[in-house]
Amino acid sequence: MSAPYHGACNCGAVTLTIAGEPLWVRQCWCRQCQKAAAGNATCNGLFRTEGMTVSGSVTWRGYTAASGNTVEHGFCPSCGNQLFGRNPIREGAQVVRLGALDDAQDLKVDAIIWTSEAPAWAYFDPRVEQWPAQPPGPTAKSA
Ligand SMILES: [Zn+2]
Ligand SMILES: [Zn+2]
Repeated sequence: MSAPYHGACNCGAVTLTIAGEPLWVRQCWCRQCQKAAAGNATCNGLFRTEGMTVSGSVTWRGYTAASGNTVEHGFCPSCGNQLFGRNPIREGAQVVRLGALDDAQDLKVDAIIWTSEAPAWAYFDPRVEQWPAQPPGPTAKSA
């Protein structure tokens, strides 16, 4: 499957359609992501906000990430399902938690990040680029 991608939160109050392909796809093992993903890594696609249509209300909460950046998580206020992440230094692009998408099965993971914070039982696909922390340049693959 390729773009457009379609998705929704668990209760269906928030739906989204994305017209373009992700700039990158990453698994993130930072501690905040482990909390968001029930102990595992989050799977994230960075998409341009132009071409992204979101309906329903999304609540945003900010925090200081392990990278030192101020990051916000967007979630459905009805079911609590986390859908988005955004970082002010990624202008014009927004992270989508891939679990929200119905048709993201064929996307390829470009990198596994924050491996230094992963638990000992975590498995990293050896074919995928790995970073112990935040890779340099938040939009390095978007140029
Ligand atoms: Zn919901
Ligand atoms: Zn993370």
